[in-house]
Amino acid sequence: MSDATTRLLGLEGLAVTGIEDGQVGPVVYLVTADEAARRCPESGTRARRSKGRRTTRQRDLPTGYRRRSLAWRKRRWRCDEPSCPRRSFTEAVGSVPARKRLTVRLRASARAAVADAGRTVVQSARDHRVSWPVVVAAFTEHAARVLPVQPETVEVLGIDEVRRGRPKWVYDEQAQSWQTIVDRWHIGFVDLSGGQGLLGQVEGRTAAAVVEWLAAHPADWRQRVRHVAIDMSTVFKSAIRQALPHAQLVVDHFHIVQLANAAVTEVRRRVTIQVRGRRGRKATASGSCATG
Ligand SMILES: [Zn+2]
Repeated sequence: MSDATTRLLGLEGLAVTGIEDGQVGPVVYLVTADEAARRCPESGTRARRSKGRRTTRQRDLPTGYRRRSLAWRKRRWRCDEPSCPRRSFTEAVGSVPARKRLTVRLRASARAAVADAGRTVVQSARDHRVSWPVVVAAFTEHAARVLPVQPETVEVLGIDEVRRGRPKWVYDEQAQSWQTIVDRWHIGFVDLSGGQGLLGQVEGRTAAAVVEWLAAHPADWRQRVRHVAIDMSTVFKSAIRQALPHAQLVVDHFHIVQLANAAVTEVRRRVTIQVRGRRGRKATASGSCATG
């Protein structure tokens, strides 16, 4: 194979020896082209005796919309350094890590599509010709690396219900009733005064879920929350009273306006019935909550 093909593939330390059309996309055959790969990772000694070869397969960035995989024929070497605890080793290069199914760049591209380009996990999986759990794993690992262990100080914390996905139930034989195992309702926690956006999301709609999420934060972080914006739910109110007793509860604008509209509609309906002895028109019904 020409040097140009190797350069076009652009995987450092590897040279292309051939390309074949596989069932789902091209398979690129590779050999090691890095002198450093022949040095023992333990002692740094340059190996002279080969123990044979084996071929490993990895997925790489797709070619157009087709899967591309690599077949790397790599050597195993004996280490001749008498004091070295390592008897043998297999060639390794940084761009195609050992015992991994994906190249570094495929994994990085799949998670960057989610983390930086705003694509959904499913879309990134489709575009990269990988399964969605692979994208989730890459993204989660990246997020854990770049996000602080604890969020920065939050002065105004927002809590609201978020509807997500479909609920799931199982039938409990003993209790003779259906039990929810996946709640369609989640609670979202957001930083309303700073720029941190969504801080967390937990399943369920209970006070316990709110208290538990807050309790996972250090005491000084909780102490710095001065206001908490909620809808007028008694569940959130009691949770905040318990977990952040010093914080002032505020009700956000949207929910107050919604409630005021509902009250005005109710009064109008009652007055209409009293004065004219009939119901108001249907069009006077109040607007509904966007999240609920
Ligand atoms: Zn060695």
